[in-house]
Amino acid sequence: MFCRTCGKEIVATAVICPHCGTPVKDEAAAGLSSGLRTAGWACAFLFPIVGIIIGIIALTKKDVGSGIAMILVSVVMMGVWAVIL
Ligand SMILES: [Zn+2]
Repeated sequence: MFCRTCGKEIVATAVICPHCGTPVKDEAAAGLSSGLRTAGWACAFLFPIVGIIIGIIALTKKDVGSGIAMILVSVVMMGVWAVIL
């Protein structure tokens, strides 16, 4: 793996970077999981928000049925993602 501070290669078992002294092991693991969480949250909110926008556009075009359906599906999707994450 590589040091997140100085970018030099370090052994996977190293607790601190031998090049710059930054604690690396726990930070790397936490960074990865928080990165995945951030990506998950982005998906959780990006897709429903796009769905709500499509629903609002449908409403403005007097397509009330599919507009409301789209918004409802998006809100439910957001709720499901919130529970999963
Ligand atoms: Zn380093």
